[in-house]
Amino acid sequence: MERGGAVLIDIDGVLTVSWEPLPGAVAAMERLRASGRSFALVTNTTSRTRASIAERLARAGFPVTVDDILTAPAVTAAYLRERCPRARCLLVNAGDIRDDLPGVTLVDDSDPDADVDVIVVGGAGDEFGYTALNRVFRHLQRGVRLVAMHRNLFWRTADGLSLDSGAFLLGLERAARVEAEITGKPAEAFFAAALAHLGAEPSTALMVGDDIESDVLAAQRSGITGVLVKTGKYAPETHRAATGTPDHVIDSFAVLPDLLERLATGSG
Ligand SMILES: [Mg+2]
Repeated sequence: MERGGAVLIDIDGVLTVSWEPLPGAVAAMERLRASGRSFALVTNTTSRTRASIAERLARAGFPVTVDDILTAPAVTAAYLRERCPRARCLLVNAGDIRDDLPGVTLVDDSDPDADVDVIVVGGAGDEFGYTALNRVFRHLQRGVRLVAMHRNLFWRTADGLSLDSGAFLLGLERAARVEAEITGKPAEAFFAAALAHLGAEPSTALMVGDDIESDVLAAQRSGITGVLVKTGKYAPETHRAATGTPDHVIDSFAVLPDLLERLATGSG
């Protein structure tokens, strides 16, 4: 990898857990910033806007701004604007991400008779009740397009694992005999959007994540060098059972600057 290659960094489980910084992560990001390398924080988070994530991370001490952050909702908005412009979209999501969906026409989810062209599934929460899901199912039966920000089955919160929208998506797809178009990680289009954001080429880029399949191996399929960290959702069983081998495995984000230096000097 040549010096100056772009670095894509997952947030949850790599930099933070429940938005609290992991040991050494702030210092490592300061070193990365000082090195002049371009980087982007890439996340499937659907509960907060880019601005809110930037504010939270900055408050925790990370030297980042809103321009450094790329979320699944932001990439989804670009996807919808390009693939189905002017479509009337019904958003099913927990958390207010409307600020990150510019140029997307959202229908009023309280109006059961509203015309819908595309169902957009974000992250799970109380919004995924029977009435809402049955309404989505009926739209899908009519041939309405299904776009989902990710397929995550569950995620780790401060009070334990919680069921995510991927679990509901499987039921909807089976029942309506459709397949969702995925816009966040592990979709190739997501990594392409992140690299385009930085003006970077896959061959000189690295992706750092704690999800071996969705972050690391998915990035490697796009020609990006994959780096797995042993923090967050990392588990030795998942690592052993994975469908491929990460290019690099490091204990935590704290030692990423050392790996980058080794790679830049060709001693890695
Ligand atoms: Mg993660």
